[in-house]
Amino acid sequence: NLTLVCRIQTAPRFAAIKHIILVASGKGGVGKSTTAVNIAAALQLEGAQVGILDADIYGPSIPMLMGLEGAQPQAKDEHTLLPFIAHGIKTQSIGFLVPNEQAMVWRGPMASQALNQLLSETDWGELDYLVVDMPPGTGDIQLTMSQKVPASGALIVTTPQDLALADAQKGIAMFEKVKVPIIGMIENMSAFVCGHCGQTSHVFGHDGGKELAHRYGVPLLAQIPLQLAIREASEEGKSISFEKNSAISQQYAQAARLMA
Ligand code: ADP
Repeated sequence: NLTLVCRIQTAPRFAAIKHIILVASGKGGVGKSTTAVNIAAALQLEGAQVGILDADIYGPSIPMLMGLEGAQPQAKDEHTLLPFIAHGIKTQSIGFLVPNEQAMVWRGPMASQALNQLLSETDWGELDYLVVDMPPGTGDIQLTMSQKVPASGALIVTTPQDLALADAQKGIAMFEKVKVPIIGMIENMSAFVCGHCGQTSHVFGHDGGKELAHRYGVPLLAQIPLQLAIREASEEGKSISFEKNSAISQQYAQAARLMA
């Protein structure tokens, strides 16, 4: 059984990790990486030991989001890679192995090989949570990842837009197939509140994620608005979750508590 073999091969690296959470989305650009970083930061603020693994071979953005752009992989020995520590979070990314532009044009086998290396060689040590930023979509790579990593559950990120919701459903179906429970759903870019007049606009539709979560019987952990400050914090290489008193950081904190 191939699944079993893969699990046995990669499991030792995950042995001292209590919970592995796969952050997934049916399509790209919905804020999956942004969510992964903010949830990781929120869990850490709750006092947990947290790591983040960027498995997004199509566009690894964790180095930028964690302020680690241009970092080279750290090797402990020939078969062991060490994660970086950024903002107190152990961070490993496929982007440290291969520059972003190159990752985009990778063929399947090369991408899988690099991903395998990260999975089998990264020494995480002890962690309460490992948050995995999955590649978007529901193809072979995503399916294999879901089978190889002994995940506690998956967190689905979607916008309220129909197209994103249709793809999120495919994501739910994929995790059901490999028997990874869905921990919950985060609706991102759920509304835009105008900084000048205070009016709320539902740019990508209204409550789509909420309805989808309801339909599948999974918890809706947060509805995160489309907000300039989220993008700005990302570009500064940190998470908005660190801004302790902002309404949005409290939403991420609440989502992290619901997941824990
Ligand atoms: P994905 O991982 O799904 O491809 P990203 O997390 O990289 O998506 O987000 C795509 C872009 O949208 C980034 O520039 C990010 O800063 C921005 N973004 C994500 N979520 C929000 C939000 N709630 N408000 C404003 N900008 C956001």
